[in-house]
Amino acid sequence: RAKAEGRGRHRFFSRALHEAILARQSLQTELRQAFERREFSLVYQPKVNLWTREVLGAEALLRWVRPDGRAVSPMDFIPLAEESGLIVPLGAWVLETACAQSRAWAQQCGHDVPVSVNISPLQFTDPGFLATVQRCLQGSGLSPRLLELELTESMLMADLERVQQTLGALRALGVCVSIDDFGTGYSSLSYLRAFPVNTLKIDRSFLKTLPDDAQALAVVEAVVALGRSLNLGVIAEGVETPEQARSLLNLDCAAMQGYLFARPMPPAELLTWLRDWRAQSAEDADLSSLRD
Ligand code: C2E
Ligand code: MG
Ligand code: MG
Ligand code: MG
Repeated sequence: RAKAEGRGRHRFFSRALHEAILARQSLQTELRQAFERREFSLVYQPKVNLWTREVLGAEALLRWVRPDGRAVSPMDFIPLAEESGLIVPLGAWVLETACAQSRAWAQQCGHDVPVSVNISPLQFTDPGFLATVQRCLQGSGLSPRLLELELTESMLMADLERVQQTLGALRALGVCVSIDDFGTGYSSLSYLRAFPVNTLKIDRSFLKTLPDDAQALAVVEAVVALGRSLNLGVIAEGVETPEQARSLLNLDCAAMQGYLFARPMPPAELLTWLRDWRAQSAEDADLSSLRD
């Protein structure tokens, strides 16, 4: 009896597993079709310096809206695209589109709007990666210093020599590199010194509990100090409340990104947002000069 029961359970599990595999395969197929049918788009979220009120740039974030109107989160489809290899052409499309967008904004608003693009591990190790970056820069005519690539810690921990080579080549191109979700990976401080990166992006999980969480404060403080001593920029992501912004300013972290300033938005809306932000900043500056 026990044996029969065991067999039944086995059958049950393998059926569940089988179904899970089928579901994933069909999502893989759907993703590939979605790419061919151009169902992907980019939204952009500004990064600001709250001291100077300068707009530091905008991060491109990928969106997939199915024909039936349902949006799928990048947290769900990026891992799948990575698994199937689709991320290489999809990521190249993101780079190309974001570079062209930055150029278009500059022409529309008369000043530079740097753009940041998230890069996945498979893309970064792809032999064609550097050529893709170069092609996107040349194709769009974007100045390399206006392009920032967001990498994650785990990508840097892989093959030291190759990573160093790729980062060195990116630097030679004049492209900026930041480390996304900083503090969540297995960072060793020595690799930060060994790699030519420009900016650390403090993961938003450390911001959630500010300003009352002493440990979170200590982490932010440590990253800011690290950035200063290694001569790297530091930016906080996921800033949602004025209290969080204030405590970041107190810790000397003036570069921020988050819902407090703007949600990710379509390119045309970002243009309006930029205009409003600049108008507001000018008004604030006027008021403070009146006060003096
Ligand atoms: P990420 O690069 O760390 O991007 C930040 C995520 O936090 C974005 O989620 C953004 O919409 C969200 N966010 C921004 N401000 C706030 C805030 O104040 N509060 C909260 N709760 N969330 C905020 P999103 O767009 O869903 O993207 C999730 C992740 O998917 C990204 O994390 C990135 O790892 C990945 N991803 C998105 N687009 C791309 C892409 O084009 N290529 C690759 N390889 N990965 C991408
Ligand atoms: Mg990012
Ligand atoms: Mg991030
Ligand atoms: Mg994050």
